[in-house]
Amino acid sequence: MIPPAFAYHRPASINEATALLADLGEDARPLAGGHSLIPMMKLRLASPEHLVDLAGIAGLKGIRQDGNDIVIGAMTTQHELIASDQVAAKVPILRETALLIADPQVRYMGTVGGNVANGDPGNDLPAVMLCLGATYQVTGPGGERRVPARQFYRSAFVTALEVGEILTAVRIPAPPAGHGAAYEKLKRKVGDYATAAAAVVLTLNGDRIATCSIGLTNVADTPLWAEQAAQILAGSALDSATVKRAVAAAEAITSPASDTRGPPQYRTKMAGVMLARALARAREHAR
Ligand SMILES: Cc1cc2nc3c(=O)[nH]c(=O)nc-3n(C[C@H](O)[C@H](O)[C@H](O)COP(=O)(O)OP(=O)(O)OC[C@H]3O[C@@H](n4cnc5c(N)ncnc54)[C@H](O)[C@@H]3O)c2cc1C
Repeated sequence: MIPPAFAYHRPASINEATALLADLGEDARPLAGGHSLIPMMKLRLASPEHLVDLAGIAGLKGIRQDGNDIVIGAMTTQHELIASDQVAAKVPILRETALLIADPQVRYMGTVGGNVANGDPGNDLPAVMLCLGATYQVTGPGGERRVPARQFYRSAFVTALEVGEILTAVRIPAPPAGHGAAYEKLKRKVGDYATAAAAVVLTLNGDRIATCSIGLTNVADTPLWAEQAAQILAGSALDSATVKRAVAAAEAITSPASDTRGPPQYRTKMAGVMLARALARAREHAR
């Protein structure tokens, strides 16, 4: 399929990009790796008249540490995330999750910024960002602002980004040394989006849960932060009765669509199964 005609722009700086996007308004979209936007254009699910390619902006690339935060430039590819020793050492759940996105071809092109700014509930990184308490750096004609990932997602493909704004970086507070984390994803085959997936980051105090955070993928029209489920687990030894209550609390906030991955009831149950597995594996990592 061939996408509809569009004008192509390649700004060299963040200011140039935001000025262009503000000027062109609703008819323009930023282009990152193109691995969600171009397929949507080919399917005529999106038909922007202008694409503003962010690939020429050097300032949007790279991974660095700023105090306790790991700061990932929006145009860092998913492959670069996987290859980063810094990410593997400080926030290993990001590497684990990125390895479950699609396949190497997609990950060589697809970016971290595109994955989280897209607003597709099927994208894997957003729920992990909610789980980690990440903040998104956003720049528009009015300057820079920071939006907590937990307040960014409004509904499917609708985010806190305003016309003219781009996401420039994702800022992640590194979890404490000795934390445990896991991302469990049920998919029909390699390269598929999640039927359901769960992210867990926890710390232990002896054998008991000191802190816990949970994110869920593709079981509502936004990624979910399962705050109540995590609260149920705090202080527990992850005994089966408490895990069961936490799983029920997580399942209760889901409202998955029915699609080729299964009916809503099945996907809700699979979110619970993924959560129980992620909890067990995160605890092993913490030990
Ligand atoms: C076959 C296939 C399988 C896939 N499987 C998975 C999967 O299992 N899990 C998964 O998570 N993803 C999957 N993807 C999607 C992939 O991860 C995409 O790369 C990602 O969703 C979008 O990143 P991108 O850089 O390609 O963004 P693009 O496609 O260029 O952009 C996506 C959207 O985000 C906007 N955007 C991009 N960057 C910015 C920015 N910096 N600021 C503001 N807006 C921005 C664009 O305007 C567009 O609306 C799959 C893709 C394909 C083709």
